[in-house]
Amino acid sequence: MTVEKMIRREILGITPYVPGKPIEEVQREWGLEEVIKLASNENPLGPSPRAVQAATAALAETHLYPDGSCYLLKSALAAELGVKPDEIIVGNGCDEVIKLVAEAFFHPGDEVVVADPTFGEYAYATQLMGAKLVKVKGEGLGHDLDKMAAAVTERTKAIFVCNPNNPTGTMNTRAELEAFIARIPPEILIIIDQAYYEYVEDAAYPNGIEFKGDGRVLTLRTFSKIYGLAGLRVGYGVGDPELIALLDRTREPFNVNRIGQVAAVAALADRAHVARSLEMNRRGMEQIYRGLADLDLSYIPSVANFILFSTPYLATQIFEEMMKRGVIVRPAHIFGLPRQVRVTIGTEEQNNKFLNVLGAVLADLGKEP
Ligand SMILES: *Cc1c(COP(=O)(O)O)cnc(C)c1O
Repeated sequence: MTVEKMIRREILGITPYVPGKPIEEVQREWGLEEVIKLASNENPLGPSPRAVQAATAALAETHLYPDGSCYLLKSALAAELGVKPDEIIVGNGCDEVIKLVAEAFFHPGDEVVVADPTFGEYAYATQLMGAKLVKVKGEGLGHDLDKMAAAVTERTKAIFVCNPNNPTGTMNTRAELEAFIARIPPEILIIIDQAYYEYVEDAAYPNGIEFKGDGRVLTLRTFSKIYGLAGLRVGYGVGDPELIALLDRTREPFNVNRIGQVAAVAALADRAHVARSLEMNRRGMEQIYRGLADLDLSYIPSVANFILFSTPYLATQIFEEMMKRGVIVRPAHIFGLPRQVRVTIGTEEQNNKFLNVLGAVLADLGKEP
């Protein structure tokens, strides 16, 4: 075929992203009325009602382009985070900011160091630019920052630190991160992905933004997780103004939609909704820990809003069987973990359904010859 010969070779190396299955698709496929999705770490409480109200009002102005500079959102974020607006870049989700970093900085042949397992977007952005992904496996599946620092070579351009790590829910402490940054040569970018920042309650957990003075440290956050706006696509990066200005060159003029911008401003102001979400997560985490232990399944204790657990069967099998019974989870084979499954903490009722269905599926699979 001609087009296949025409394409950049790097593109053929990219594994297409497999998203969590949409609820509507599972309902259609299996003729189910009630389907719950605990696969993409979304907020089970939904968006802040104030964000919904702001978004609804903004719909009437959909004929107007959004503010390309995200002025109001950056001002609100700057006040909230104690930084200046020119230290922030807003993207169509955090995913876009990761891509902007790659487009602005990665040359073919550059090396990019990541943990294994970790969030897949780093691999995608790296391969897109023809750079080389260097995966570093740590003990207990978390980030081994010493090993990652040791993987640095003359060709290393960037290191992604996913903290807490997706899919493991593990974290690195402030002391570990500080020592790590001090060890990395100054001409290497360090991207600290804190998509789950608002969930972490461990006192030793670092705020990546404190390292922005280092110049090459970019901290990523998102409105997709605790703020419950995954469908509107708003994420951001915080770093030195010079770094932000360089990233801004690769950004499309209207990358963040109008509805997302106003909803994010409203969501940021709704502290009560964030507090409720955190409280629900705290209780749900305990509920699922207990349930998994009752089923004799081992799991990695998590500081985020999801748990990675092990099963005696293939993750894809558990996923398929649970889906038929109306519960969508994330099989971790996509992260290179064939017998592990990631589940998002839901409401109490959703967690109960998840545990009941998981128990039934394990019992059924155990009966098969
Ligand atoms: C969910 C997630 C993101 C967020 O992405 P958005 O594009 O803002 O929805 C970023 N990093 C990690 C590790 C995530 O799990």
